[in-house]
Amino acid sequence: KGMHQQTRQLRTGLEAAEKRSKELEDIVSKTTKALHDARQQAATDPLTGLANRGAFDRALAEGMQSARRLRRPFTLVVIDIDHFKRVNDTHGHPVGDVVIKAVAERMRQELRDQDTVARYGGEEFALLLEGAAEGIAFSVADRIRERIATNPIPIPPEESADGQPFEVQITRSAGLSIYRETDSPEAFVKRADKALYVAKRSGRNQVKVEARTARRRMR
Ligand code: GH3
Ligand code: MG
Ligand code: MG
Repeated sequence: KGMHQQTRQLRTGLEAAEKRSKELEDIVSKTTKALHDARQQAATDPLTGLANRGAFDRALAEGMQSARRLRRPFTLVVIDIDHFKRVNDTHGHPVGDVVIKAVAERMRQELRDQDTVARYGGEEFALLLEGAAEGIAFSVADRIRERIATNPIPIPPEESADGQPFEVQITRSAGLSIYRETDSPEAFVKRADKALYVAKRSGRNQVKVEARTARRRMR
């Protein structure tokens, strides 16, 4: 009889321990999810849902490291909306925000999962294309350019001054740089910025590749 009672006590104890263990598992998984969400939020630009500047800097450093290790090409594209001030001046800041969001969405649709697209500044964006050499990177950047240049952005009635929906037509310019093993992050970004500047000066709505360094002629 004593043994019977002991067995029952043990079983009850085991059940309680199992229940407690389930509860702890639940707490761990909720905490892990909360941590994951918080990390995600800290890396995300709230307006567009793209990677923010901090997340871009980390992805840039990681991309450079794996390009070196795997001896793979790595390209950077910086993108800036053309005459964006006019959009704000003509239609107001909230319409400008709708345009920024639409541009972000179009870029996201053109990219592969392994690519990083970030909101680099106000109306500036940056793409990191791992494993993409110049030719591929150029065609990705130019496809985004064309898509934006040929599809006006619809503005919903709630963002319109007179309650009527309308469209905003914009273009964007881009500069592309190709990673070199000796690059610092700053140097890599600077060449793309310079190419962007050339694209702006050459009439906007175009993609320019970094200037080639003069190579000693082979004999
Ligand atoms: P460019 O073709 O030379 O790039 O001309 P731009 O007018 O686009 O260039 P500029 O850099 O002078 O203007 C950028 C404008 O973007 C100025 C700023 O008010 C606006 N801007 C920056 N961030 C935001 C934002 O989050 N929302 C809105 N609506 N406007 C923004
Ligand atoms: Mg700008
Ligand atoms: Mg601009």
